[in-house]
Amino acid sequence: MSKEQQAVACARKAFETGRSKSLEHRIRQLKNLQRLFIEKQSVISDAIKKDLNKSVVGTQLYETLGLEGEIGLAIKKLKEWAAPRPVEKNLMTISDTVYIKPEPLGVVLIIGAWNYPWAVTIQPLIGAIAAGNAAVVKPSEVCVHTAKVMEDLLPLYIDKELYPVVTGGVSETQELLRQRFDHIFYTGNSVVGKLIMEAAAKHLTPVTLELGGKSPCYIDRNCDITIACRRIAWGKYTNCGQTCIAPDYILCDSSIQDQVIEEVKKAIKEFYTDNPQTCPDYGRIINQRHFKRIINMLEDSTIAVGGDNDESDCYIAPTVLRDVKPEAKVMQEEIFGPLLPILSVSSLDEAIKFINKGEKPLALYVFSSDKEVITRMADNTSSGGLLANDCLVHFSVNSLPFGGVGNSGMGCYHGKYSFDQLSHLRGCLIKQLKMEGVNSMRYPPHTPKKLGW
Ligand code: NAD
Repeated sequence: MSKEQQAVACARKAFETGRSKSLEHRIRQLKNLQRLFIEKQSVISDAIKKDLNKSVVGTQLYETLGLEGEIGLAIKKLKEWAAPRPVEKNLMTISDTVYIKPEPLGVVLIIGAWNYPWAVTIQPLIGAIAAGNAAVVKPSEVCVHTAKVMEDLLPLYIDKELYPVVTGGVSETQELLRQRFDHIFYTGNSVVGKLIMEAAAKHLTPVTLELGGKSPCYIDRNCDITIACRRIAWGKYTNCGQTCIAPDYILCDSSIQDQVIEEVKKAIKEFYTDNPQTCPDYGRIINQRHFKRIINMLEDSTIAVGGDNDESDCYIAPTVLRDVKPEAKVMQEEIFGPLLPILSVSSLDEAIKFINKGEKPLALYVFSSDKEVITRMADNTSSGGLLANDCLVHFSVNSLPFGGVGNSGMGCYHGKYSFDQLSHLRGCLIKQLKMEGVNSMRYPPHTPKKLGW
């Protein structure tokens, strides 16, 4: 038996004991997970520092605080979420009991990505535990140090038979994917997303795919450009642009391009000083492969700000590209790095047309002081999420579903959505063996006399 098969068999066996179903057990596991984040904050931060040069505060802000909030919410609401949900009755069921009963799916496979390794791996795990499942956790091998910390720490805090961790790369993930699961929750790129769905189809396993893509950012002339650009610079350069919902590119009227460049430049200086390479709050590209991929994108575009880089340090400065053409290299795939291309559009309609020509994005940003512009953008486009006049923060609102649509993914999570996503919502109708008279019409023979025709 391979180690992957062993992990799945172990989780399945533990699930079959039934212990993951008890609400007390779920809450105890969630509390243990919460304790991990409190007690091991420095171990977690040290590893992420090595992987992505994230600062301690950055790790808390973008990884652990959100997870602690999700755990707290799940603990507080679990009883309510897991309770039978009465539904409306019709005439035929007026005297029956009709309800939805959320029940665990079984064994969930969670495959994480490297950019926010704790957030994207543990947040689905919180949902899996809350919903009463077992889960095999596969952290991304790309964030080498964090994967090791997860492998070491999780079994010390949570039930290691119900929630085993499997580390490794593509071949280990492929071996996992040959096993049978009851749900697969994958975070990563769309190309691999298709492979995940293909593997899941063999067992008819449902999937949640949290993918990426090019998230557009439209800046209307009628807006406070200084504030808009500060918020966009923050959304773009946090984690060195390696954020699934980072604004990928800007669309704006050519008459405001120079002002946008100036304001983004000012914000870069304010956030990361004149020399971001020595600034503790500025991250690094995860590895040399991604460094080369991003640098290649600069080839046919004009640099307006930044552009300097250092391969030995995986450093690429916060960069703005001006007058970018739709055919430019940087516009052919998700950037996932600190390059911010600006493309000119002459109107809101042209921006909408441009966005609709591409795949449906994970996030769509619109900056305007005019409500009508925001409404028209919302009504005439589609994306996983929509945020007006800010960047990224919709991710932290756990009453909103977070997920993609079309090429940016399927399914959603966060808060109660995680619980529902990883539950089977079983429709239940409980009748009594009485009032048989009302059923006579449905039984054959369907004679006109019986039907009263
Ligand atoms: P990655 O390289 O870490 O891959 C993710 C996981 O897929 C890893 O665990 C890896 O082992 C596995 N994997 C890779 N290749 C595979 C293969 N051929 N077969 C089976 N498994 C394989 O991460 P990535 O894909 O570089 O992550 C970046 C992408 O993820 C971006 O597109 C980003 O937008 C997206 N992302 C989305 C979200 C979201 O919430 N929607 C969050 C973070 C990242």
